[in-house]
Amino acid sequence: MKLLLATRSTHKAREVRRVLGGGGLEGCTIVTLDDAGIPWTEAEEDLEPHDTFEENAASKARYFARLSGLATVSDDSGLEVDALEGRPGVRTKRFAPPGRYPGLPQDDANNRYLVECLAGLPPSARGARYVCVACLVDPGTGVVSSFRGEAAGRILATARGTGGFGYDPLFFDPELDRSYAELTPAEKDARSHRGRAFRALSAALRPQL
Ligand code: IMP
Repeated sequence: MKLLLATRSTHKAREVRRVLGGGGLEGCTIVTLDDAGIPWTEAEEDLEPHDTFEENAASKARYFARLSGLATVSDDSGLEVDALEGRPGVRTKRFAPPGRYPGLPQDDANNRYLVECLAGLPPSARGARYVCVACLVDPGTGVVSSFRGEAAGRILATARGTGGFGYDPLFFDPELDRSYAELTPAEKDARSHRGRAFRALSAALRPQL
């Protein structure tokens, strides 16, 4: 069985491949959009307009299932910060206001803005969670199944570590006493929102193989 992984993010693809690869889906060949020769088009900019991770993930998976005719999985993810009443949520990717830090890549701008938004708050007021919704679409029936994973943590005032991607240097895991950028890939997979969501997807898919 061929499974299309509908993401352009190499970081996400690497993590999802690791989790699905270790999840008993050996009979499944995972291909990315690039592997499948699906070129980027402007239509992709408009695939995540919704206010929930579930709707955005389903929208992406449906679109690419229709385009490819393959069973398709997608991932919509983000950060919910308690002190910001759950923001940035589904807007996590473009959290930093445009033009605020000229010349800074988006991920660095997001991290800097997050640090600024929480400046002066004590550790007890820095609670947050990563959320990931993994969606699976059957191209034949159009049936969509969603799997949500969450990981609790705290936002650091200063970045720590060099692993992971995105907000990982600022996302602190109090149980391990390290930021996500200080975890090994296996440790991140075991605890992360993406690991949890895709393990659940994998368990649901296994009996169908
Ligand atoms: P989207 O899922 O493509 O809409 O983007 C999710 C946003 O959340 C991006 O800014 C990612 O960098 C960030 N994000 C999602 N998962 C992680 C993670 O595991 N580590 C760090 N940042 C993440």
